[in-house]
Amino acid sequence: MSVQANRVMALSEWENKWQEGRIGFHNPEVHNLLEKNLNKAICGRKEVRFFFPLCGKAVDMKWLADMGHTVVGVELSEKGIKQFFEEQNLAFIEEPVPAIPGAKVFKSADGKISIYQCDLYKFSSAVAGKFGGIWDRGALVAINPCDRQKYSTLLTSLMNNDCRYLLDTLEYNPELYKGPPFFVSGEDVKNLFGSGCDIELLESVDAFDEKFKSWGLDSMTEKVYLLTLKAQ
Ligand code: SAH
Repeated sequence: MSVQANRVMALSEWENKWQEGRIGFHNPEVHNLLEKNLNKAICGRKEVRFFFPLCGKAVDMKWLADMGHTVVGVELSEKGIKQFFEEQNLAFIEEPVPAIPGAKVFKSADGKISIYQCDLYKFSSAVAGKFGGIWDRGALVAINPCDRQKYSTLLTSLMNNDCRYLLDTLEYNPELYKGPPFFVSGEDVKNLFGSGCDIELLESVDAFDEKFKSWGLDSMTEKVYLLTLKAQ
């Protein structure tokens, strides 16, 4: 069992990160591994509906919307969501979500980007349907390790038959850093998604840099997998 198995982050700890601007996870550029593997996610389709679990203010959402795709994200921090629309210069409207008491949805005026402000585990296909694509960066690696099974069940339930799910994970020595982001091995991916999905490793890159050195780490490998539903 991984040394990180019992580590739990409360939702309030994430909100505090946003309030205090401690959001080192945010990438101001489009993610290089999304850019590189986009064709494998799109597969020649037009106007794909993408799901972004735990979306933060990922600029990748705007990038995909500008290409004609639509994006639905889920993020618990209202501050993060508002920063996304403001920084991307997108007018937005805010509405309640009848299916999820207390939740709100923030929608760009053109309707291409919707971000649900709620706990991910309250979200389901009953709220916004199923998806043709998923970009999972800073999501499976961010949730509490004890919630992984619940997470993979939810994510699989959001996949349309033609869904192409790009999953970005990090591998490092979990004895040296407590996370998040948490260590997710290839074996973990197989155990979580292998019963419902075919899994292909698309990329494995050395992602080590100064930031990880300051965390006490000596290596960091980033991997991108492509998950597709097994034929019924
Ligand atoms: N995917 C984004 C953000 C990664 S950090 C990126 O790559 O930049 C993880 C994000 O998930 C944080 O913004 C945090 O506020 C949010 N989060 C954590 N737990 C959540 C939960 N249970 N439901 C919804 N959002 C959550």
